[in-house]
Amino acid sequence: MIRPLVPGDMIGIIGGGQLGRMLAMAAARLGFRTTILEPQPDCPAAQVANSQILAAYDDRAALTSLAARSAVVTYEFENVPVGAAKHLTDHVPVFPPPLALETAQDRLAEKSFLNRQGISTARFHPVDNDSDLKSALEIFGGSGVLKTRRLGYDGKGQRLLRNATAGDVDGAFEAMGGVPLILEELVAFDFEFSIIAARGLDGSMMAYDAARNEHSDGILRRSTVPAGLDPKMEETAREATFALMAALGYVGVIGVEFFALADGTVLANEFAPRVHNSGHWTEAACVVSQFEQHIRAVAGLPLGAPGRHSACVMENLIGDDVERIPDLMGEAGVVLNLYGKTETRPGRKMGHFTRLG
Ligand code: AMP
Repeated sequence: MIRPLVPGDMIGIIGGGQLGRMLAMAAARLGFRTTILEPQPDCPAAQVANSQILAAYDDRAALTSLAARSAVVTYEFENVPVGAAKHLTDHVPVFPPPLALETAQDRLAEKSFLNRQGISTARFHPVDNDSDLKSALEIFGGSGVLKTRRLGYDGKGQRLLRNATAGDVDGAFEAMGGVPLILEELVAFDFEFSIIAARGLDGSMMAYDAARNEHSDGILRRSTVPAGLDPKMEETAREATFALMAALGYVGVIGVEFFALADGTVLANEFAPRVHNSGHWTEAACVVSQFEQHIRAVAGLPLGAPGRHSACVMENLIGDDVERIPDLMGEAGVVLNLYGKTETRPGRKMGHFTRLG
């Protein structure tokens, strides 16, 4: 029997990025302490946490030390080594469960798992050589999105194929790194949206309103709520998210990305077993943010109501976007959140802001 955490208890967080930072801040507001396991010194999360263990994510001694001082361990990125998470479960509760990591880390396992729960996705085929690619392309009419099965994020490890020729196929497998791939049918979606939801230790579930998401160069730029999504389609996506969480025995916040098609079809694309960039707006427009919701869930506390008090648009500040900060600070109704990163690089997420109303 796992007991609900009480103020003063320690929450271990694997990963030291901005998501870990916002989780640590939410944990502090509920009276908890946090320790970050992260090899990078002075990382965004450690700047606001009680302590940091400076070590690799799969360092067994470091994991044992994290377990010893924590009442529960969670994580802020989906590529936490599954072996590390499983090792921790021998010593301390780990939420979300390692099964969620294992499933989300491999696009083939992820899409197959979704389909087994009755959740529709784009059609897909595993590709382990050029000849697999050729036959999969024939089935999909010559077009598709070729993706690495593992370690892809923000559009990395992807190649769009349209009316592919033999020249596109020959050598394509090696050009993608010679690693296991998946070819997905190219979906002519109307727009993309996500559902941010949570499941508590007692099995209760909640979902925030859907957000409409716009990406460029594979990176999320903007999330808008309300999403202008047909209520039936939102219901389909919410029910899919709830079914997914129940099947995973999930505890914590999850982010599920969907494609909305013009004919009313909803297809799940992928899920992240963690708080999600497209849920950052909840800190400004909801009474209980996704970060507090995640901390409540992993701490065994009741989930908060997901109600939203404002319409809003969240935008990421990427690279040189930091130059907009002085203007944003002068604007009424803007909630700004900066990640404490001192070095600006192209494509690097430096912060975000949410414009209310
Ligand atoms: P992912 O890494 O799967 O999130 O893909 C990154 C982005 O590529 C998505 O947000 C979509 O904009 C686009 N994309 C991914 N898969 C497909 C697909 N099967 N059909 C059309 N666009 C896709």
